[in-house]
Amino acid sequence: MMSNEELWKAVLGEMELSLSRANFITWFKNTAVVARDKNSIFVSVPNGFIKEWLENKFNKKILQSIRNLSPEIREVKYSIGKPKPELIKQDISKIILDKEFEATSEAPLDADIDKNTNLNRKYSFDSFVIGSNNELAHAACLAVTKSLGKLYNPLFLYGGVGLGKTHLLQAVGNKITEIKERRVLYIPAERFTANIIEAIRNKNIEDLKSHYARLDLLIIDDIQFIAGKEKTQDIIFSTFNELYGRNKQIILSSDRPPAAIPALEERLRSRFEGGMIADVSEPDFETRLAILKQKIDSKDGDLSDDVLIYIATHIQKNVRELEGSLNRVLAFAQIYNRVPDLKEVKNILNTYLNTPYRKTSPQTILKAVADFYSITSNDLIKRSRKKEVVKPRQVAMFLLRDETKLSFPEIGQKLGGRDHSTVIHACEKIRAEAAIDEPLKQELILIKERVYNSFEK
Ligand code: ADP
Ligand code: MG
Repeated sequence: MMSNEELWKAVLGEMELSLSRANFITWFKNTAVVARDKNSIFVSVPNGFIKEWLENKFNKKILQSIRNLSPEIREVKYSIGKPKPELIKQDISKIILDKEFEATSEAPLDADIDKNTNLNRKYSFDSFVIGSNNELAHAACLAVTKSLGKLYNPLFLYGGVGLGKTHLLQAVGNKITEIKERRVLYIPAERFTANIIEAIRNKNIEDLKSHYARLDLLIIDDIQFIAGKEKTQDIIFSTFNELYGRNKQIILSSDRPPAAIPALEERLRSRFEGGMIADVSEPDFETRLAILKQKIDSKDGDLSDDVLIYIATHIQKNVRELEGSLNRVLAFAQIYNRVPDLKEVKNILNTYLNTPYRKTSPQTILKAVADFYSITSNDLIKRSRKKEVVKPRQVAMFLLRDETKLSFPEIGQKLGGRDHSTVIHACEKIRAEAAIDEPLKQELILIKERVYNSFEK
């Protein structure tokens, strides 16, 4: 009879043939057969994420390949645990590319983000699809790049989430940095506030103010978050006057027009309204389809037109969801190494489609995250800094931020009274990592699936 080790090696060999290297390593690294009885094989896997994928996506194949060698086996059971070190070594000894894979997942997290300007290079005018929903905003942004500080100052963009405000703002910033010696800063309003609080604490608020005052272009994203924050409004007011007085450009975005931002000082409101205001709204079908085509080109993906049309017809709310559903379909294509057909795409997008409003609650998210990582919701809230809870906690913060309307301070509150700067850091970290770390990206998709499935029930 084959030893457990030999058996698993043979299975790995077979699986390896049908998967890309990166995928094979993702799903099978640190797995091993730890035990077997008459009809069952027990496989240990490193975490709940891998367990779920092996159970749901690969079990049939794994079982088949085991039965080719040991026909008496009827089922494979997966459990989370550490195989003995020597087993790990044996099992992955043939994976020469392992190191390479590790190297890419440790690539600089914020490779795309410029340290000085905070701008993400991926946002450009070239990659922005113009439709009737964003025509005015786009034209205003483009005009600003050609006549910085002189034409529309400030430029104020507003509209719902995921409709391209940040993209446009950053595209302006990126365009301007092409010109030498232009000082540009992109900053989300919440970060702006956090910086001010920190500067006050460190007694260098004047330094911070003069830093802002030296800019040629200041972009503040999601300005609605300064509602009710007096000190922040104070500093924004003086910075605004300083820059405006010297014809330096200010660009702002918000989820609503200035008049609708509560607890905003009148003097700021009138200044925000003093330049150009443009809105972005929901894209129509043609625009949605054009955006999908643009995204798929940029990702080197390949999907048939009827699939794209299906997605564009059914995902209507905003561009972020459109992208999210496309990514989900592309993840499938990557895992199975083939292009899914329309029927499969319908399945993949089921979760999206059955939950039209995608409403959820913080409790549901915390529970889904905790369940997924096999810890308790209480572990997420506790003060522990153990590795097993730190990452799930950061994921929870990120999801609370993306999937609910909670502000950073509110998220901090929900997670055991943590500081909002901790939350901001966590959200940025997970977002940056997910952009380059395929397994993490998949984890987030799976957790979201749980979040919205539990809503359905
Ligand atoms: P907002 O800031 O309004 O919430 P974002 O700018 O973050 O929205 O847009 C969400 C996602 O959708 C981003 O990845 C962005 O690149 C993409 N996006 C939005 N509008 C467009 C568009 N017109 N063309 C291409 N991509 C878009
Ligand atoms: Mg935004």
